[in-house]
Amino acid sequence: MELVNGQYTTSGSDLIEIANEFGAPVYVYDGNKIVEQYQRLLNAFKPINIKVKYACKALNNSSILKLLKNQGSGLDTVSINEVHLGLKAGFEPKDIIFTPNCVSIEEIQAAVKLGVHINIDNISILEQFGHLYGNSVPCCIRINPHILAGGNTKISTGHIDSKFGISVYQLRHVARVVKSSNIRVNGLHMHTGSDILDAGVFLQGAEILFDSAKDFPDLEFVDFGSGFKVAYKEGDITTDIEELGAAISSRFMEFCKEYGKELELWFEPGKYLVSESGYFLVKVNVLKQTTATVFVGVDSGLNHLIRPMLYDSYHSIVNLSNPEGKQRIYTVVGYICETDTFGWDRKLSEVHEGDILCFKNAGAYGFTMSSNYNARFRPAEVLVWNNKAQLIRKREEFEDLLRNEVEVEL
Ligand SMILES: *Cc1c(COP(=O)(O)O)cnc(C)c1O
Repeated sequence: MELVNGQYTTSGSDLIEIANEFGAPVYVYDGNKIVEQYQRLLNAFKPINIKVKYACKALNNSSILKLLKNQGSGLDTVSINEVHLGLKAGFEPKDIIFTPNCVSIEEIQAAVKLGVHINIDNISILEQFGHLYGNSVPCCIRINPHILAGGNTKISTGHIDSKFGISVYQLRHVARVVKSSNIRVNGLHMHTGSDILDAGVFLQGAEILFDSAKDFPDLEFVDFGSGFKVAYKEGDITTDIEELGAAISSRFMEFCKEYGKELELWFEPGKYLVSESGYFLVKVNVLKQTTATVFVGVDSGLNHLIRPMLYDSYHSIVNLSNPEGKQRIYTVVGYICETDTFGWDRKLSEVHEGDILCFKNAGAYGFTMSSNYNARFRPAEVLVWNNKAQLIRKREEFEDLLRNEVEVEL
């Protein structure tokens, strides 16, 4: 977002005006930022024509899905309902990969019926898949290379205790199952977590995958998942995507020669594509001075943005209503009856009740993780695109809270 003539805007749209028009709290996404990130990723891997499968669990509003589809993106899905959302948004089944964890064989069968790529992450399901389909339906195998990435174990998926993927040490067993049922393995996949800092770690995982590839003669693609880190605050170290792109591209071309076939290289970024596009706007309800701190209480809470409480994540906060005000120290909290702190000891332009605050980097894992806790409505979503701010999801209403309740005689 930019400060233009004393007003915070994104792609020319005034954020306070958006809050006034659609009400607070509201999630705002800047489509231009999403497209920018998508193009930057493609450019970074330029010599190779990588295929991007947007990990839609980060933000799955249909308008966002369509926007990315129009850019040429595919989709990474983790539940059958995400597959349905993708198909409804117009993605071709061949452009969707289903990468669930610990789902039933019935859910896998449903995805096979829909014609999407299947990614299998445990040997039990691989066996059942083989019994059902033999070589009539190909599948991809998710390997856990046990590369440790990321500072927070909750978002790291590669460690030895992780429930994700089939351990690289079990590949002999995988080979037996594949051979017995004549399974056609068309892809190898890894996704080691969401916090990879440098090309070195990524390449380490890549080498393990490349090494495993020699046991699978029918590969069509290799999928490196995601793990691109974005900056949540000034000075944050981020993945140098250009450096990573150059390193991986040249190593991948070499690998294809070794393998003897041009394979596709897939990535599944979520956060990288949508995090920075998102702003979560809330209104200040109360200023509360205690003996130890000044609390800013806003009309939202962990029901709308749970990342700070769930992952200790940091979201920059800006007081949109007072851009030039003097800086003071506040602790910003929500209205949920639970400790729900958005940020301790933050420097904000002097805050008044009624001001609009903005949480940055709210595009990924914001709305999709929201809930109705405390019987609060989930917020509205607005997309800024083509110089317009448009509502893409209405705020919930009271009826929404009761929709699935069943009344009984008491
Ligand atoms: C969550 C997830 C991603 C996306 O992770 P980000 O950190 O948001 O980029 C990619 N692939 C799989 C399989 C995932 O579960």
